Amino acid sequence: MSAWLEVRDLSVRFNAGEGGLLRKTQGVVHALSDVDFTLAKGETLGLIGESGSGKSTLGRAVLHLVRPSDGNVHLEGTDLTALNDREMRPFRRRMQMVFQDPFDSMNPRMTVGEIIAEPLRLQHIGSADERRTRSAELLERMGLDPAGMQRYPGQYSGGQRQRIAIARALATNPDLLVLDEPTSGLDVSMQARILNLLRDLQGELGLSYLFISHDLGAVAYLAQRIAVLYLGRIVEIAPTRKLIDRPEHPYTASLLDALPALARNGAEAHLPPPQGEPPSPINPPSGCAFHPRCPKAQAACRERRPELAADAEAHAVACHFPLGAAANAA
Ligand code: SF4
Repeated sequence: MSAWLEVRDLSVRFNAGEGGLLRKTQGVVHALSDVDFTLAKGETLGLIGESGSGKSTLGRAVLHLVRPSDGNVHLEGTDLTALNDREMRPFRRRMQMVFQDPFDSMNPRMTVGEIIAEPLRLQHIGSADERRTRSAELLERMGLDPAGMQRYPGQYSGGQRQRIAIARALATNPDLLVLDEPTSGLDVSMQARILNLLRDLQGELGLSYLFISHDLGAVAYLAQRIAVLYLGRIVEIAPTRKLIDRPEHPYTASLLDALPALARNGAEAHLPPPQGEPPSPINPPSGCAFHPRCPKAQAACRERRPELAADAEAHAVACHFPLGAAANAA
């Protein structure tokens, strides 16, 4: 697959405590640092990591909802970070987001038909009649009765609201969806239904997904590749099966320990779940930021930050002592 979306050296920093009552700056939060990845047309890249690892910030920075401090996002060769708001408008149609809790992002006083058509109305696309027709088509495609256009989001269940949110995201015919925990909070059967719907839509429409989730099973089901974030940096990125069967980074191996149900072929790479809390992104640890929690840490880990280095099979890891190297040496 060739790179369609290219993210290079993307960093997001902001001042902690900015805008508070005392307007005191407590330090710089390193929300994302030097993030590099590519995404092909029609591909799903899963983003995993603990809360606060930067997954959602990365999704928002790619969509220009958060301004990067450094780095670039290229879509089909155009540097989106160099565009002003007017120049960005046509690209906004092509990139949409589906949030974790659709209820939070829906105006409860708008009808479902109005909610789905809202991105079209805001971008002055089509007449009112055309927008209504599009809403009805999308509701039907989501497996919901188009007669529900006049109902309100509160009259639907959580799973139905998530399908309405996906319909709204698709209204402008985007190429890229950032899916931020889209199945979180749903029961297991509804999660499966949403994942199958997303997979079908991808096949039909050639969509690319950035799929953010703490549910490793869901990520493994949908993603062709997975990137693991720790404290705002990608520490490992690999094709899904390789990452699950043969994780190289100790942090990845610890996260995968929460996946007992998923068939894995690399039992020796199991490590206990990460101990303790992630460190503060205001004062990240020296060297490898994972070293205070890493069962494999050695002196060098405190002194030098490991660079993300890929092997010939597109498996990249940022670790001085990757697990595969230890296994090979044994
Ligand atoms: Fe652990 Fe060292 Fe690798 Fe960091 S560089 S993950 S501390 S072994």
